[in-house]
Amino acid sequence: MPEPSSRTRRLRVPATLLALALLLGAGIAAVLGVHSLGKANRSLEHSYQVINLLVSAEAAMHEAEAKARGFRTTGRDDFRPQFDDAVERAAAQGRQLVALTADNPAQQRRARVFETAVRDHLRTMEILFDPAALASLDNDALQHRIDANLARVDNLGTLRREMMDEESRLLAERRDHSRMRAAFLVAFIVAAFVIALGVLGVLLSSLVRENRRSRALEREARTAVRDLRQALALRDTLSEQRRAQSVYAGMLQSCQSRDEIVALTTQTIAELVPGAGGRCYLAKPSQNFLESVGDFGEPVIASADVLTPDQCWALRRGQPHHLHGRAGGLRCAHLDPDAPFDGISTLCVPLVANGQSLGLLHVSAGSNAGGRDGDNDAPVLCALAEQMSMAIANLQLRETLRLQSIRDPLTGLFNRRYLEESLARELQRCERRGLPLSVLMLDIDHFKRFNDTYGHAAGDALLGHIGHLIQSRVRAEDIACRYGGEEFTVVMPELDAANTCARAEEVRKAIEDATVQHLGQTLGPVTISIGIATSPGDGTEPGQLLQTADAALYRAKAAGRNRVLHAGTAN
Ligand code: GH3
Ligand code: MG
Ligand code: MG
Repeated sequence: MPEPSSRTRRLRVPATLLALALLLGAGIAAVLGVHSLGKANRSLEHSYQVINLLVSAEAAMHEAEAKARGFRTTGRDDFRPQFDDAVERAAAQGRQLVALTADNPAQQRRARVFETAVRDHLRTMEILFDPAALASLDNDALQHRIDANLARVDNLGTLRREMMDEESRLLAERRDHSRMRAAFLVAFIVAAFVIALGVLGVLLSSLVRENRRSRALEREARTAVRDLRQALALRDTLSEQRRAQSVYAGMLQSCQSRDEIVALTTQTIAELVPGAGGRCYLAKPSQNFLESVGDFGEPVIASADVLTPDQCWALRRGQPHHLHGRAGGLRCAHLDPDAPFDGISTLCVPLVANGQSLGLLHVSAGSNAGGRDGDNDAPVLCALAEQMSMAIANLQLRETLRLQSIRDPLTGLFNRRYLEESLARELQRCERRGLPLSVLMLDIDHFKRFNDTYGHAAGDALLGHIGHLIQSRVRAEDIACRYGGEEFTVVMPELDAANTCARAEEVRKAIEDATVQHLGQTLGPVTISIGIATSPGDGTEPGQLLQTADAALYRAKAAGRNRVLHAGTAN
């Protein structure tokens, strides 16, 4: 079904034609009315002329009659031409009357009778100018003439009245007719104008409505175009964000340290949210505080370098804390309390993975920074924080696994596999630089007996304790390992034989002096024997050095145990 507007549009042309036809009809009717009014006026004029001629002819006849009687009474000769003149006028007007009534046969017949009667009457008046003829008439003849004259005059009066009545009737009839016609014309013209104006009014209002609707449609179209542009811009932004996030995720996989993760994250945030600024915090192993490890952008509010978990709502609640001005809750305590609220948006996202709190991402921006909507950026920032948390957790896991793979769980020292890898590397390094490298082989004295005396668990405790003692007495760059069972190895790069012997002696002494507690029981005393070999003098190959150190250890055992013996010494 067509909508009303299209129906109205279809009817618009016929309606316009109708209105024009009505206006044209009204115009033609007005012209015809004027024409017909002129015609009616001419008819009225005609009737008035007929009446006028009747009255004039009768008056001329009476004037001629008066002149004739005047001549007979006074005998003055000047009456004769006056009589003739009146007769001539009466005759002429009679003729005019006959001619004028040609359009009405009955009236013309009466006019002819009237004209003839006037002429006859005036002819009989001629005798008054002939006294001899008049005197010859006897009384009867005179009386007869007088009666005939009176009858003619009566007849003429009757004729005149009839004609005047007829003209009056015609006048009234024409007046009524022309009144009716005028009323009809006026009604027609008024009706035509009213209808035409009504149709034009409807057309006009339809055009106004159409115009209004087209303006509304234009507005809607403009809004739709603007929305579309915004949607396209948003799509472009989102696709750019997705691309940057995908690059970020890819690179995260290859990050090998927290510093790299933090640097990559801050750079990605600066690229994705250019109007924002903030900091990346990582939790210290103690978990008691978080330390800022990276900045990005231009923050609009200062955030502390170090903060405790209870200073941040996001850390306390374990979920993002988003603030627009004053809306969204309370401001975190690690933010500048003197900064204004209006026009500032802040977002804190906890870095959590596997239930472990790793740190915090804090971002701040003006409410409309760079024409961007902060609400659109929050999910991106949360996603980045999540990816970053996972990357840090993975890194920690990798680190733990790596440590597990190279560390001995009982003593915390490196294992034999790690020793073999690192000894070869360190040997090459020292050889390149022309520096010595010493290897210590350590073996607990009579450990079998210790196990037998205190039990295997106490033996394990002792192994752990001695491991820590060795680690604490060597330098950070030394590599302390559990070689196997109750034997240990320490690689001491860049240390010559004398200094190594001194260090080894410190270790031996520390173990000798140590008292070990296990399950409320004091274990020991325990001693250790140490054999040392130093490159390049005692060998330049890892296996050779180890064997030489082991041989020195064997000699130390043989020499009575609880001693340090360098391969280079005689005993
Ligand atoms: P020596 O002074 O000649 O070295 O005598 P020793 O008893 O220490 O020598 P031996 O090599 O004969 O004995 C080593 C003992 O160490 C044997 C074994 O029971 C014990 N042992 C090896 N590994 C472990 C361990 O992981 N835990 C415990 N508790 N004992 C271990
Ligand atoms: Mg042994
Ligand atoms: Mg032993």
